[in-house]
Amino acid sequence: MNVPKKVDLLLSGCDVVTIDGKNSVIRDGAVAIKGNKIAWIGKVSAARRRIAARSTIDGRGQIAMPGLVDAHVHTAQTLLRGKIAEIGRRRQVKIPIWRNYYIPFESMLTDEDVYLSGLLCYANMISVGTTCFAEAGGPHPDAMGRAAIDVGIRGFVALNTVDQGVGVPKTMIASTGKAYDGNVALVKRWKGTGQGTDRVQAWLALRQIIVCSPELIKAMSGAARALDVKIHTHLCEGVYEIDYALEKFGKRPTEYLDDLGALDRHMHCAHSVLLSAEEMDLYVKHRPSACHCAFNNYHIGPHRLHEMWRRGIDIGLGTDGAASWGSLDIFQVAHMARVGQQAVMGTPIAYRNVMPSEEILKVATNGGARALGIEKAIGSLEVGKKADILLVDRSQLDHAPVYDPYFVAANTVVGRDVRTVVVDGNVVMKDRELLTVDRQEIDRRLAERLPKLMERFDAMTA
Ligand SMILES: [Zn+2]
Repeated sequence: MNVPKKVDLLLSGCDVVTIDGKNSVIRDGAVAIKGNKIAWIGKVSAARRRIAARSTIDGRGQIAMPGLVDAHVHTAQTLLRGKIAEIGRRRQVKIPIWRNYYIPFESMLTDEDVYLSGLLCYANMISVGTTCFAEAGGPHPDAMGRAAIDVGIRGFVALNTVDQGVGVPKTMIASTGKAYDGNVALVKRWKGTGQGTDRVQAWLALRQIIVCSPELIKAMSGAARALDVKIHTHLCEGVYEIDYALEKFGKRPTEYLDDLGALDRHMHCAHSVLLSAEEMDLYVKHRPSACHCAFNNYHIGPHRLHEMWRRGIDIGLGTDGAASWGSLDIFQVAHMARVGQQAVMGTPIAYRNVMPSEEILKVATNGGARALGIEKAIGSLEVGKKADILLVDRSQLDHAPVYDPYFVAANTVVGRDVRTVVVDGNVVMKDRELLTVDRQEIDRRLAERLPKLMERFDAMTA
């Protein structure tokens, strides 16, 4: 009796914001980690009697909380951060940006360029508290996977998948057979690999309905069921897409996917902004997951996150990558989402605080995990779940006084308050020092490679 439980790591003296089913908060708490899992959570006073840890991190003045999930990111666009704005100061930016800049940029990247993008992107994510990501589908996904393994983040990589389309560079269009085979082979390569962990895996991808043939969508849907993985796609992201579907098929995009038999829980639909009432019902019925990218979605339309969340749709938050709006900080996306939801879903009906920040933080953690289909493994601090944990500084003036750590985590914390990050039981950042990557080496490689890349990109897009 009373033999202390042996664990590998103890986060001690922190306030624990679990974001579990009861939203439990433990003041002066501790979280014990054994292997890659959470072994015990409780008061620090109890931990002293009951836990024998091989190592301990002093968490006083900090909040322990689950790592955030970025449910929609474009890894290979990281090196374009701020570039379109810079071009815009010199000349007229060409519209649409994705076709004139993003796609040409992605098409010129080498394997090593994407690895470098991955290092920067994932190290950046860790530094602002994101411990898991879903890549939308880009070039050289194996290089993304290598970068994710090296940085120590959790995630799903995916291949850019396009088999038709006007105005898309020919180098980016694969035959339907090749697109299918490339996707299936990628998923198989990453299944059960990841150096003895399932931390990094691959999904299938379909860029969006305009650039993917119905044959490919159908075949990919079958593969997703057979392999039991998700398909990452963009859906109901613009008026042009709705018009395309109505003109070509006489149906809205979600109805079109449903008709193809491709709308099920294997489909992960980023954005999902312009949904009709009937399409929303199809989401509830067939359970595709979704992702709200607050930095950009309100440019498209009044995203109905609140309604989707209330109706039980598996939805998380995403950044949409660094190229569009710059930041990869999901805390900031959450703050935008709260204001956005208030403006479009609350204020018009005098519903004050329609989605409180605490609920939005639940979307960023529990919701993201559900959207990625791994809610049993991550998304909250609970015994038996994977140890993906943040220690966040709550001692700054911007947080004082601290009555309720959950309020602080949801309202005043931003990514740069994150001090220490544990992913899969490994400490990957400690007191803001990244332990898995050499920041100076990343900067050196960027300084060497970026001038050459940008010279070509400027010539290509002039
Ligand atoms: Zn996207």
